[in-house]
Amino acid sequence: MTRNMLDRTDAFGPKKTVQDSRSLCASQYYSVIAKFMKHLHSNIPPNDPPDLSKPAHIEIREEYFKGKNVKRAVVFLLSNGCEWALKSANGCTMCGHIAKQTRKQPISADDFIIQFKTAFSTINFKDIPILNIFNNGSFFNDNELPSDARRTILSLISENESIKRLLVECRPEFVEESVFREVKSLLPRTEMEIAIGLETADDFRRIISINKGFSLSQFTQAANIILNNDLRLRSYILLKPPFYSEKEAILDAVDSIKTAFSLGVNTVSLEAMTVQKYTLIEYLYNNNIYKMPWLWSIVEVIKQTSHLGRVVIGLFKFYPSPEFVPNNCSSCNDKVMEAIIEYNRTLRTDMFDRLECSCKKDWEEDLNAGSDFYKNLQDFVVTAKI
Ligand code: SF4
Ligand SMILES: [Zn+2]
Repeated sequence: MTRNMLDRTDAFGPKKTVQDSRSLCASQYYSVIAKFMKHLHSNIPPNDPPDLSKPAHIEIREEYFKGKNVKRAVVFLLSNGCEWALKSANGCTMCGHIAKQTRKQPISADDFIIQFKTAFSTINFKDIPILNIFNNGSFFNDNELPSDARRTILSLISENESIKRLLVECRPEFVEESVFREVKSLLPRTEMEIAIGLETADDFRRIISINKGFSLSQFTQAANIILNNDLRLRSYILLKPPFYSEKEAILDAVDSIKTAFSLGVNTVSLEAMTVQKYTLIEYLYNNNIYKMPWLWSIVEVIKQTSHLGRVVIGLFKFYPSPEFVPNNCSSCNDKVMEAIIEYNRTLRTDMFDRLECSCKKDWEEDLNAGSDFYKNLQDFVVTAKI
């Protein structure tokens, strides 16, 4: 790819201010998107009565850890959901948790503990040094995971010497010094990594496109607390959020990864967009306002950023499982995915050098075509009759 194919000025044009953004300002867009999310969520059918003694899902995945590829256990707890998704904001535009993993029946601290114990007794940690616990929201929000349950879960983990690192997710507003002091006393020998979905370093687009509801400065404050407490920080960067063109997506992901590392992030997880049910991205995809990202774009972002720090690639394994995932063409999808998986196992990029396919030309054409962020946003406003 030639350098000018990914020239920033070309792709984004002069940086737009809130006033420039056609007829609606940021706060109006925000309320429009939040209302539309509410409408989408209203179509979610009722769930079957849950068995609160079992986690929603358990998976064994891989991760490059201290110089080698190891297994990690991922436990998805059933929960009462992410507060951000349940309050007036109605959640992030790509997040499918609310449809599948959130239960209206109250889930008590004891229920969470039983779920965790069930998961814990199912997994043999002998060769699994990493545990991820996902509670469909923020691990440190007492309203989502009661503090009693959190304390018991951490104490149980501390008794298992095979677990070397625990990863949990949290929004910045629940990152607090006092909580981390407690975590460190409960889990003195296990590394703790906190993952925050920064998604993009661009505040305006994070509000409009992702409905994320926090600013880069809030992320920075949380990052400082995490790092000052000698905890690890992982940041999710989203490749091709709603309304982005392919070219904008690459530029934005590269910029955002650079920003994340400049703020001290230890690991960036590049999450290429997938389509989950009852999300804005599903609506846009079904109405031809969104095209799935190419695998070539993932490779391009990694080529441009892997030298900056530890960048891993999310492998589209979500719970619930996505309906659509990034792809190239049927001739090279498997080959490129194998290279992506191999990259995650080694964090070496040489496996990308050998990749070739005739569809690469189509991808390059896509980089110079397609509607930009503002046109796609306008198309959404028109299509959704807002
Ligand atoms: S992505 Fe995270 S913060 Fe956003 S709605 Fe989903 S669980 Fe909540
Ligand atoms: Zn191909």
